[in-house]
Amino acid sequence: MNAPESALPGATPATTDKLAKLGIRTQADLVLHLPLRYEDETRLTTIADLRPGVPAQVEAEIADASVQYRPRRQLVVRVQDDSGGELVLRFLNFYGSQVKQLAVGRRLRLFGEPRGGFLGDEMVHPRCRVVEAGEALPEAMTPIYPTTAGLSQLALRRLIDLTLKQADLAETLPDALRKQLRLADFADSVQLLHHPTPQTAAAELTGRTHPAWQRIKFDELLAQQLSLRRAHEARRAKNAPPLPARSSLTKKLLAALPFTLTAAQQRVWREISHDLGQSHPMQRLLQGDVGSGKTVVAALAMLQAVENGHQAVLMAPTEILAEQHFRKLTQWLAPLGLDIAWLSGSLKKKDKVAMAEAISSGRTRLAVGTHALIEEAVAFPKLGLAIIDEQHRFGVRQRLTLRGKGVNPHQLMMSATPIPRTLAMSYYADLDVSVIDELPPGRQPVLTKLASEARRDEVIARIRDACAQGRQAYWVCPLIEESEKLQLQTAVDTFERLRAELPGLKVGLVHGRLKGEEKARVMGDFAAGKVQLLVATTVIEVGVDVPNASLMVIEHAERFGLSQLHQLRGRIGRGADDSVCILLYAHPLGETARARLKIIFENTDGFEIARQDLHLRGPGEFLGSRQSGVPLLRFADLEADADLFEAARESAELLLKDYPDAADRHVERWLGGRRDLLKV
Ligand code: ADP
Ligand code: MG
Repeated sequence: MNAPESALPGATPATTDKLAKLGIRTQADLVLHLPLRYEDETRLTTIADLRPGVPAQVEAEIADASVQYRPRRQLVVRVQDDSGGELVLRFLNFYGSQVKQLAVGRRLRLFGEPRGGFLGDEMVHPRCRVVEAGEALPEAMTPIYPTTAGLSQLALRRLIDLTLKQADLAETLPDALRKQLRLADFADSVQLLHHPTPQTAAAELTGRTHPAWQRIKFDELLAQQLSLRRAHEARRAKNAPPLPARSSLTKKLLAALPFTLTAAQQRVWREISHDLGQSHPMQRLLQGDVGSGKTVVAALAMLQAVENGHQAVLMAPTEILAEQHFRKLTQWLAPLGLDIAWLSGSLKKKDKVAMAEAISSGRTRLAVGTHALIEEAVAFPKLGLAIIDEQHRFGVRQRLTLRGKGVNPHQLMMSATPIPRTLAMSYYADLDVSVIDELPPGRQPVLTKLASEARRDEVIARIRDACAQGRQAYWVCPLIEESEKLQLQTAVDTFERLRAELPGLKVGLVHGRLKGEEKARVMGDFAAGKVQLLVATTVIEVGVDVPNASLMVIEHAERFGLSQLHQLRGRIGRGADDSVCILLYAHPLGETARARLKIIFENTDGFEIARQDLHLRGPGEFLGSRQSGVPLLRFADLEADADLFEAARESAELLLKDYPDAADRHVERWLGGRRDLLKV
């Protein structure tokens, strides 16, 4: 049913393209393209009974039709029905042929939303067509589908109706399971959802509590669980070089560190060390709040690869962060006699070639860098471990390419954007997860303050005082997502202005457009205390670690997302001083912006912030489908449908064990058109 060549009978190539935009590639996708809502064309309302704002269907005779030019060119049609009522129809876009069709005396069936107009009741752009008196009314509700430009409801409806007749709607669940879970039949459910009768309770349809909806949501969750489990099994069947703990290098690093690992770090390190020793590729997500100390764990893992004669790479999403990792790792590992290769886009050609050669000859065992590591033609002959920091910032494709550098290297992904448990179980079921749930001792909680823009002067005074006492501060520039050019301009303006407002203070500027060396110089000066106030764009959002900085101002905080605010704030509170984060906001505040500021003001725990963020935005936006690589749920809701989710998890296990064919058919139906994305 999902063979691509026979994919969509009845669809022209142009339509096929439009359907692809909607994520529809197979017949099954069409069957599962369910209505957003319905319109009731099963009955007629008399003009006399129309109520403003309530969509209704009317049948009436044309009394008059003319093109008028006031206030602008429009077709105005007056119709009357047997109730004696009169209604005005207005069409702003129309064809000449349409005008001809609307001859006086013809009967029209109209569907639209009436409103009170200057000349009595009117409908603007009603759906209408000429009918014969007594023409039968449909028996089912009219579905309204999500669609895209150039694909009309009518065309989509015809295609779906045709497919519902042709497609294989056979049951995929074993009878016993269906009965036990009291689930409705699949074919009945989709037929009903596409064409419910007017008697079907509207609330159950829109609230998606109807048994037919329950069935669809269950199926969707089941398909997701099945595909994730399959991916998990496929991974376990692959070979990776076993890199068991030999404790020669790792022990030396642990002994040389100026601190001891927290209990949480020790636990996750044990988990990772154990995985590395296996002969199938590790795929582990290391989660830990900002500042929880993930880097040292990464360093240990890299050493375990080297102990076994293999190579390890660490990739970071920004040059600043990669550079910082490079410095930190060099500081830790150079004393152990290890060389580290550094690779970034801004490196000179000659240096790049030399680095690539050192790596591909196998002489250099460790490499740190940005995505240049995967984009440049660098070969890693003995890659045993690939680590990706701040993994949520990378796209799926980039992660795949990196993995492709080694045969099947072990993979460690690190993230400070905590993924709430339900989401992790659903979308990351294929990953093993380690969590650092404890911060190193001696960290001071950051105090967060909200201040209206009007109090900017007070904030400036505060920075002056703090710096006079030897502290350092960040000033985060307003975010301008729409334009990189404007963003840059804003950063430069902010820098100039603050420099004028704070004479005598050493102010630095860092933004994404600076050259690599320039960026490194500013960051180095800030780390060394030579710059007191660092004006920055969100390039400092991830990873930057300067413990003496204890004050942060975020301008136009209302424009930032929650995880961004949390990450930014995580740059302070790293030293012994009390830290303060001031969120400057401008009026008027939208509802969501207000909710975000409230959450960040009230919470410091990254997991709690993520949980509320998920609630605010829904999983689709929270993860971004591009980044998760797993299909986002369209129908089921992890929070509201928690019980269905549990049932689907258990059923997935049962199906894979006892009914593998049914599992195949089920996954094919739901995900067959998305095969390429699922190989992640
Ligand atoms: P993140 O998890 O956000 O990447 P980092 O790895 O950058 O955090 O660690 C933040 C800071 O804490 C670094 O300066 C690091 O050296 C330090 N650190 C890490 N582990 C410990 C520990 N167990 N005790 C004290 N300091 C630590
Ligand atoms: Mg980090």
